[in-house]
Amino acid sequence: MGEAYEALMVQMRELDVIGQISGLLGWDQEVMMPPKAAAMRAEQLAWLSKEGHTRMTAPEVGELISAAESEVNGSEVEQGNIRIIRDSYDKATKKPTEFVEEKARHTSKSIVSWTEAREKNDFSIFRDDLAKMIDMSRQLAGYLGYEDNPYDALLDLYESGLCVAKLDPLFQGLRDSSVPLIKAVSELENKPDCSWVHKHPWPKASQEAFSQAISEAIGFDFQAGRRDESTHPFCGGSNPDDVRWTTRYDEKEPFGAIYGTMHETGHALYEQGRPRDLDFQPAGEANGLGVHESQSRLWENQVGRSLAFCEWSFPMWQEYFPANFEGVTPEMLWQAANQVEASLIRVEADEATYNLHVMIRYEIEKKLINGELEVDDLPDAWDDMYEEFLGVRSPTRTEGVLQDIHWSFGAFGYFPTYTLGNLYSAQLLQAAEKDIGSIDEQVRRGDFTPLLDWMRTHVHARGSILEPSDHIEEATGEQPKPDAFVAYLADKINALYGV
Ligand code: ZN
Repeated sequence: MGEAYEALMVQMRELDVIGQISGLLGWDQEVMMPPKAAAMRAEQLAWLSKEGHTRMTAPEVGELISAAESEVNGSEVEQGNIRIIRDSYDKATKKPTEFVEEKARHTSKSIVSWTEAREKNDFSIFRDDLAKMIDMSRQLAGYLGYEDNPYDALLDLYESGLCVAKLDPLFQGLRDSSVPLIKAVSELENKPDCSWVHKHPWPKASQEAFSQAISEAIGFDFQAGRRDESTHPFCGGSNPDDVRWTTRYDEKEPFGAIYGTMHETGHALYEQGRPRDLDFQPAGEANGLGVHESQSRLWENQVGRSLAFCEWSFPMWQEYFPANFEGVTPEMLWQAANQVEASLIRVEADEATYNLHVMIRYEIEKKLINGELEVDDLPDAWDDMYEEFLGVRSPTRTEGVLQDIHWSFGAFGYFPTYTLGNLYSAQLLQAAEKDIGSIDEQVRRGDFTPLLDWMRTHVHARGSILEPSDHIEEATGEQPKPDAFVAYLADKINALYGV
């Protein structure tokens, strides 16, 4: 690559530094900042975001991109960089400035009406703002452009290259296998007794120490990152040398904190494993929401909720929580960490039912954006789908259509990335096992290195050089498919419940 490419990469370096500073300020806002600092912090973050946007959309950048594109074929890294920069530039410049401003204003208003509607269990308070948000999302799809379906333009915002044609078969495969499994489990009369979990409180200090120990054991480098507490757990920070994740603690039960720890550690390991020769380059970033979520769910679910992990970690549980573990076996721990039950709330759902919550949102979003479902029919359509696929019906709008914040800020197309994470994680684990042998055996003796090394090589070190679905194909030999996850879930439910 030539001069234009080099000049472009200088611009990208500065943008990356702006992103690193925002990351640190954002972490501080959630974890450390005194309450009175909120207004000034919002100014700081807004300035950085505006500065980044101005630099990204500068006409010189557009000219440099075109010039770099016409310079002769580069390496895969150079091609990856150009593809990502072109995509961000187009997405940032295709929307008229007035539209961006109007959407920002409407979002602030809409979050307020959603919050009030949710509190008062009254959909009508949110109805008009939601209807306008759907209109604006359709408008946005028009600005961004699409081939088959306006919803494709929105899906592509959260995972590059994602579209209805790719997602429909994935959700179809999931639905066909999960719905009967969940039904069978819900009809069981004798389920494992997990009442031991609630016999004693779970001291917060022990949960903190245990979180630290587990994160360290699976490979997080605390010389290049931190663990803290926050209301909404997340993984953030600045760069691979400064990765900050959080969890939260509940003295009534330990699983939210411990599995939250493994989830965020999974995100954090991905960030620490990014290719260092690509620092400051777009292709050196993690590869989108779906792949990121595959890394968190791998450690949280596939590893953390396995019987092998419960067996290995059992002596630690006993050491940190002696009173809670009297008379408890590793198998009882495993059963308690894996209770399958159809429920109303997505964020509280277990591994088996979770994807159906996402599938329902996907089907509804597709219809809303395509004008096949009217806003006034939405609340009942939501409840009907819950009844059909999960066998539960919400007694309130608060626990039904109003439960998630996403639509209030217009994030149509976001939900599916959660399920992609589950599918990718199972597909990656299957591929890893072919290379490194039985992961259960390794986990049972606390040897997490082979699995982490495999992910480092095939996922983390590859940055976002390839588009997500091609990245998955490179790592596993196949385009994303539901099969590995479907098989994993069927095995697990059979082992737990005998169905
Ligand atoms: Zn996550």
